[in-house]
Amino acid sequence: MVDQTAQVVIFGYHRFVSNVRHPDTEITPAAFEAQMKELKDRGITVIGMQDLLAWKRSEKNIPPRCAVITIDDGWKSQYEVAWPILKKFGYTFTMFIYTEGVRGGHFGGGEAITWEQLAEMRDAGMDIEAHSATHQDLRKPYDKVTKRRLSPPEYEQWLQNEIAGCKQLLEQRLGIKVNCFAVPYGFHNEHIKEIARNAGYEAMFTVYGQPITYTSPLESLGRYMIEANKPKVFADAVKMIGTSTGGAAAIAEVGASSLSPQPADGETVRTTLPLIRANLSAVGEIDPGSVQLRVSGLGVVPASYDPKTGVVAYQVTQKLRDKTCTVILSAKSGGKKVEAHWTFGVEEGTTGTSTSPMPTPKK
Ligand SMILES: [Zn+2]
Repeated sequence: MVDQTAQVVIFGYHRFVSNVRHPDTEITPAAFEAQMKELKDRGITVIGMQDLLAWKRSEKNIPPRCAVITIDDGWKSQYEVAWPILKKFGYTFTMFIYTEGVRGGHFGGGEAITWEQLAEMRDAGMDIEAHSATHQDLRKPYDKVTKRRLSPPEYEQWLQNEIAGCKQLLEQRLGIKVNCFAVPYGFHNEHIKEIARNAGYEAMFTVYGQPITYTSPLESLGRYMIEANKPKVFADAVKMIGTSTGGAAAIAEVGASSLSPQPADGETVRTTLPLIRANLSAVGEIDPGSVQLRVSGLGVVPASYDPKTGVVAYQVTQKLRDKTCTVILSAKSGGKKVEAHWTFGVEEGTTGTSTSPMPTPKK
């Protein structure tokens, strides 16, 4: 039996430079080292990707709170700067490589990692996985390398090379088994997932960070992508598993104000039949079937949810009886349940219809 209550956060890094010029993909060695130390100080165990997958297959136990370190794209600073720091802590990690970005490839310039460096990392037990061939938005039938719009059959062939070809090349050049695919920019759709499944990938990774649980779907595991000017991403990630209760599925509380609720938190409305609305688009990708709206005194109500706009709405049709009304909006985002609560006041006797005082509703 494995511990099904364990949780894992996955971090994604790119380049390690002392002078940050591209804060969205770079971090200083000092900041990186401080983060690695913080994991240790907080008792978060760094595990390898293959241990994470073995746990998901119920083959291996992992500690209750874990992190997986992943590094994308294949820059030489990953070998020269990040690896020595990770070694200091005894941390293992995963390299997500796009094959044309390795030295000698179409995008493999002087800052690129070399096949020899990758082989050395492999020999030291590091995990090397796939990140496409040319690192483009795989949803679009346009090849930026040849600057050509692709016909449907050309697009299929191109996708095969980006997804399956990349895996084959890494496996052949390095003599390894590749079972993970990090989609470039996290952009994917059902077709891309299907090709990845058929290519033999066991897990797919996106850039939408969330704690990974035993039941998180393997075909879109979110990673916390660390950027130099957004230290909050790392802080949030460690906080997420640091405060998780274990056992029950983790619920992330979302501040209601970020959902622009109507009526607003603390507002008093002059109708017992208000229209309740909120916008979930700030939360991220929402599983449309998971949206649930609870209204105190009514329970779960048949709210509408528009995935395009993120708007959840419900017109109250049965008069609210209490002076205050609490709304609980919950939804699943990735594998994680998010919840927002807010309360508004209801002023009685101002709707024009005469209402006799109601008894306190029973619980
Ligand atoms: Zn990338």
